[in-house]
Amino acid sequence: MSEVVDQLAELTGFRDRDVMDVTLVMALRDLLEPESVAIYRAVGEPGAERWLTRAHLRAGDAVAAADPLWATPESLPPLGAHPLRLEAMRKRAVTQLPHEGGWLYLFPLATERDAVSVIEIQSLRPLGAASQRTVSSVLRIYHNFQGLLDYSERDTLTGLLNRKTFDESFLKLVSELPPPAGRELLSGDRRHEGVQTHYVLGVIDIDHFKSVNDRFGHLIGDEVLLLLSRLMRGSFRFHDLLYRFGGEEFVVLMRCDDDTHAGEAFERLRVNTERYLFPQVGRITVSIGFTDMRAGDTPAAAFERADKAVYHAKSSGRNQVHNYAALLARGLIREATQLSDVELF
Ligand code: GH3
Ligand code: MG
Ligand code: MG
Repeated sequence: MSEVVDQLAELTGFRDRDVMDVTLVMALRDLLEPESVAIYRAVGEPGAERWLTRAHLRAGDAVAAADPLWATPESLPPLGAHPLRLEAMRKRAVTQLPHEGGWLYLFPLATERDAVSVIEIQSLRPLGAASQRTVSSVLRIYHNFQGLLDYSERDTLTGLLNRKTFDESFLKLVSELPPPAGRELLSGDRRHEGVQTHYVLGVIDIDHFKSVNDRFGHLIGDEVLLLLSRLMRGSFRFHDLLYRFGGEEFVVLMRCDDDTHAGEAFERLRVNTERYLFPQVGRITVSIGFTDMRAGDTPAAAFERADKAVYHAKSSGRNQVHNYAALLARGLIREATQLSDVELF
C-alpha cells in the first residue's frame, strides 16, 4: 500500500505532462512487474488520428522510449493498425486477453480535452482483481490531476492554452536551438550538430473584431472566438502549441523545417478563416505575423517581432500573413527593438 502512495506522490509531483506520462509507466512497472507497459495517445485530425507513443517501458529498460514530441503525423501508425487499443478506447472499458503465452491488458484513459490514451500492459501472469483495481485507481488519480492541470493551463472559452505556461514553453524550445554561428566552435558543444531545429512564433489577431461585438453583442463575439479556435486546431499540427492570449489575440508556437512551411501553415489558417461562414456574423478575417525564434531569445522580444508583422498586415489592408524577417529584408519595417515609442504608432 505504501508503495502505491509513494508512486502517486511521485506522479503528482510534476506539472510537465511528458514527465508525468513517463512517471506513470514507471509507477505501473514497479507496482505490477509486467513484461512491458506503455501509454499510447490518439492524436491528429478526427477521422485521421494516429497512435503516438507517449512512453514505453520493458521489464529491463532503464529509461522509457517515446515518439519524439514533434513527430510528423505521417510517421505514426494509424488507429486501425492497432484494433485492440481502438476497441478498448471506444468501449471505454478494460480489455483483457491472452497474448503470446501471457496476458494483455488495455486500460482506456481520457486525458486532456479531446485526447484519449490507452495504457497497454503485457504480463506473463494474469493481474488479479486487486491489481486491476489498483491500476484503475492510479489512472483515476492521473486523470483527475490532468484535469486540474487543464483547468489552470487552459482558457475556459476555447480550451486553448492560456498565457500562464507560454514563457516556460517558449524558453524550453529556445533552449533546444543551436547556439548562434561562431559560439558553437568556441564552446565545443556538438549536441546540436546536424539537427535542423526551427521554431516559429505567430501572432493572430482578428480584424475589426470590435465591430463584431458592437453589431452582434459579446455572446456572439465569444462564439466567433470559439469557432476560430477550432479553425486553428484544424490548420496546425497536433503538436503545435496554440494559445489564447486573452481578448481576440492568439499565439502559436510551431516547429517547422523553414519559414516557408510556417508561412504555409499560417496562410492555411488565414484562408480557412476567410472561407468560414460564422453563424449570424458571416465572414471575418485575421491578420497574422510570425517570426523565427532565435537562440537567446526572450518571449517578449519574439512576441514584439511577430506583433510588428501583425501591425504591418493591419496597416496594409488586413487579412494578410507577414514574416517579420521578410519585412525587415525588404525594408518595410525596422528592427523591432530599435523603434521608439512614437514610431510604434
Ligand atoms: P483590428 O482589425 O485593428 O484588430 O480591429 P479590432 O476591432 O479587432 O481592434 P482591437 O484589437 O483594438 O479590438 C479588440 C476588441 O476585441 C475589443 C473588444 O471589443 C473585443 N474583445 C476583447 N476580448 C474579448 C472577449 O473575450 N470576448 C469578446 N466577445 N470580445 C472581446
Ligand atoms: Mg487586438
Ligand atoms: Mg483585432
